[in-house]
Amino acid sequence: MIDLLFRDDAYLKSATARVIGVHEHGIELDRTIFYPMGGGQPGDSGILIRDSGERIEIADTRKGELHGSVYHVPAPGMPRPQAGELVSLEIDWVRRYSLMRLHTALHLLSCVVVAPVSGGNIGPDKARLDFDIDMSLLDAERITRETNTLIASGVATETVWITDEELEAQPELVKTMSVQPPRGAGRVRLLRIPGIDLQPCGGTHVGNIAEIGGIRVTRIRNEGKRNKRVEIVLAS
Ligand SMILES: [Zn+2]
Repeated sequence: MIDLLFRDDAYLKSATARVIGVHEHGIELDRTIFYPMGGGQPGDSGILIRDSGERIEIADTRKGELHGSVYHVPAPGMPRPQAGELVSLEIDWVRRYSLMRLHTALHLLSCVVVAPVSGGNIGPDKARLDFDIDMSLLDAERITRETNTLIASGVATETVWITDEELEAQPELVKTMSVQPPRGAGRVRLLRIPGIDLQPCGGTHVGNIAEIGGIRVTRIRNEGKRNKRVEIVLAS
C-alpha cells in the first residue's frame, strides 16, 4: 500500500518519494501528495524532479489497477524515471487549492439544497451538484446567500474514520444516489463540518470553510428528470 499523504494533510505542496514502478500509463511512487481522480474531483497535476534536476511534468493522476495504487501520468514526451530512484514531488498548488475550496463548497451546497444528490463534478474554475428536486425549489440568489452565510461562520473541518459496519448502520450519511463510498477496506473516511455536514468523502478539503471566501451560483439547469444542476464559482 502506498502512503497517501494528502489524506492526512491536504496542504502538502511538496515531498520526496521513491519510484516503485514505471508503466505505460503512469509512474508509481511509494508515497504521494498527488490526489488521483475520484469522487468528482480531478487528479492533480504537477512535476517530479529527478536527482539530476530533470523535470517530469505530470499531466494527471489516476487510480491504478490495484486497490490503493496511484498512477502519476506524465505529459506527452516526458522522460521516465527508473524504478528505485528518489524523486521530489511538487503539485500544481494554485489549481489544487481552487479544487479544495470548490470541493468543500459543494459539501455546504448539499446542506443548503436539501435533496438527494444525483451527480456532481469539480473543476478548477467551477463545480456543480445535480439534485433530484423540483426546479421551482431552486433559487440561485437564495442558494448563493445561504451558502455564503455558512462560509462566513468560519467552521474548521475535521476528518473522521468509521468502520464499514458503522456506516452500514447510518445509511442517512450517504447523500449521493449514484456514488456509494468504497467499502471493503474496513473503514471509511468522512468529512465533518461541525454543526453543518457529515458525509463519506475521500477528497481534499480546506481546513476552515472561511477559506472558500464566498461562492456564486452561476447557473441552474434542468439536465433530466432527476438531475437539476446547480453550478457555482468562487466569488473571488
Ligand atoms: Zn469532500
